[in-house]
Amino acid sequence: MFKIDLHIHTRLGGDSLIHPDEVVERARAVGLDGVCVTEHHAYDLSEPFEEISRTTKFPIFRAMEYRADNGHLLVYGVQASRGNFPPGLPIQKAVDWVQKNSGVAVPAHPYQQSLAGQYLGDDILKINGLYALEVLNGSVSAADNRRAEKAASRLKISGVGGSDAHGLHVLGKAYTCFPAPVTSMNELTTALKTGNYFPVWNQYYDGPKETVRQF
Ligand SMILES: [Zn+2]
Ligand SMILES: [Zn+2]
Repeated sequence: MFKIDLHIHTRLGGDSLIHPDEVVERARAVGLDGVCVTEHHAYDLSEPFEEISRTTKFPIFRAMEYRADNGHLLVYGVQASRGNFPPGLPIQKAVDWVQKNSGVAVPAHPYQQSLAGQYLGDDILKINGLYALEVLNGSVSAADNRRAEKAASRLKISGVGGSDAHGLHVLGKAYTCFPAPVTSMNELTTALKTGNYFPVWNQYYDGPKETVRQF
């Protein structure tokens, strides 16, 4: 099993307390084999992690979190930015753009309501062409995760897990288990397309310790 927290934010994205230099030590301490940094709307902001990954020999992948008109998408395998991928597109259009560019778009926390009361909710069921859904997010309620898990099974797609950490204590709280080691962003994108993985609550944290789906 290769354990990757597929959804973390750091100070590089401006809305997290996690210092980039703290990530690897914490990730190792909570038993992860890798992390994926997903700053908002910006692939390029996480560039310093290339050097951190090299010097620590710890796998750090770089993706981004995109805000569509009514929901968030984790975008893997496309080096997108506000310039080539402006925020606020209809979510189906955003998914299609990512996947036409050989990436993988995974709706994040689809049942979490925003402060403005907007959320994707059951509209998730209308999105075509998804490979996976985030069904275990370490920063939303158990009920929101359960609804996402149900939606993934209705859509007959796999679920991923990630902490959505904005603070160090949350990093690794949920993660995704892959059957084999993943050593590059290309490999991660390819692995995400296979559907062969499952989300897990981290045993190092308090709270529900359920494995949502097994192979
Ligand atoms: Zn989000
Ligand atoms: Zn996030």
